[in-house]
Amino acid sequence: MGIATINPATGETLKTFTALTDTEIEEKLAVADRAFRQYRKTSFAERSQWLRQTADIVEKEAETFGKMITEEMGKPIAQAIAEVKKCASVCHYYADNAEAFLAPTYTETDASESFVAYHPLGAILAVMPWNFPFWQVFRFAAPALMAGNVGLLKHASNVPQCAIALEDIFRRGGFPDGAFQTLLIGADKVAQIVSDDRVKAATLTGSEPAGASLASIAGKHIKKTVLELGGSDPFIVLESADLDDAVKTAVTARMLNNGQSCIAAKRLILVGAIADPFEKALLEAYKTLTVGDPTDPNTDIGPLATAAILSELDRLVRECVSQGAQALIGGRPLDRAGNFYPPTLLANIPPGTPADTEEFFGPVGLIFRVNTLDEAIELANSTSLGLGASAWTNNPEERDRLIRDIDAGAVFINGMVKSDPRLPFGGIKRSGYGRELSVVGIREFVNLKTVWIK
Ligand code: NDP
Repeated sequence: MGIATINPATGETLKTFTALTDTEIEEKLAVADRAFRQYRKTSFAERSQWLRQTADIVEKEAETFGKMITEEMGKPIAQAIAEVKKCASVCHYYADNAEAFLAPTYTETDASESFVAYHPLGAILAVMPWNFPFWQVFRFAAPALMAGNVGLLKHASNVPQCAIALEDIFRRGGFPDGAFQTLLIGADKVAQIVSDDRVKAATLTGSEPAGASLASIAGKHIKKTVLELGGSDPFIVLESADLDDAVKTAVTARMLNNGQSCIAAKRLILVGAIADPFEKALLEAYKTLTVGDPTDPNTDIGPLATAAILSELDRLVRECVSQGAQALIGGRPLDRAGNFYPPTLLANIPPGTPADTEEFFGPVGLIFRVNTLDEAIELANSTSLGLGASAWTNNPEERDRLIRDIDAGAVFINGMVKSDPRLPFGGIKRSGYGRELSVVGIREFVNLKTVWIK
């Protein structure tokens, strides 16, 4: 697939883009390298000011950028605008806190003075996905730029207008030329860029194969990577849970972004007697969701981002059903133009289907019933992924067990998994490594320089 805007609601190709030539890539890398030599000398006060100005732009123009997101990847318009506005929050967070996060940390030793300084590394490559085309990029760029690094963005090939707009936003925010550049390239050029000496590290959010490929090339060149890959997050509901609240949240946590979120509540694990009323209420809630034009503010679920995502989801659901799972609602793509898939709830899923192992990237809830907390934890941990987990209980002992025993990068009790600039975000197992956001995120791409003075 080339670099293009294809409206997922219609299948129409709206705009195509030419990928950079090798000469153009070389120029951009040279610009990044030159820019870094100057940019690293800028003060936290200057960077904060540019980042705050950037926040003002996304806040003021959220509607314009929201429409762009919706057109390119099909997110319902209200969610698209909310995503853009959330980008301002991560800008303000790092504008306010980066200097303190990266202040030298002093330790008493045999030196007269010894401390750790946090210095920038240089150009960092960010390979980003289409599902949150603004937020994922800001989540990387705000801390990276505040730390004194320069950014190179290789965005997903289906969101080129967003990719171009992002470079423009940072420039208009006041960042010097070359501090943040978009590279319009296909995935085939990533290896060449990661291998380049001027690129010091890389981060990728996306699928496991893409992450493994990037990390293996970076490893060959001894470069640091952060990977944020898929999830098949459990949503565990115990008998002491507040049923209404759990059901309501289970809908949002699964359907947000048309179901295409790494931290979506993909596997609903229902424990004991709450299973019947929960399943019934969830089914009723799914029935009320409207599927349709993502530019209509009343639409709950728009099209999936690409035809490939739709056919993969269709394949996974069909395989589960052919092995005996029951679709309580939905179960096949809508018979209309565009990549529309309805809210789908699979129950009575036998062991051994893709529901055990695969990431379902779309509006499909997977119901599993178990009898005890132990079984719930075992099932939750049974996949190769470990991004987030949401668990619902009002029993303190159950809560403590869940926090201790769930294998995931985050456990949210009585709430949906979400990213917040103040909290670290990332996974374990095949969901990736490293963390974004918070103090931890900004320290991923810095040189922790040990300083010892006699
Ligand atoms: P990809 O992982 O293919 O795309 C994400 C980004 O990685 C894009 O910029 C893509 O570029 C790039 N990329 C793809 N292959 C490579 C590679 N070999 N080396 C370096 N970069 C690469 O995701 P898809 O869009 O194909 O989605 C497939 C599945 O991945 C989804 O169904 C979902 O399960 C998972 N996914 C998870 C996301 C998350 O948030 N964790 C986000 C997106 C997808 P290009 O677009 O040019 O191919």
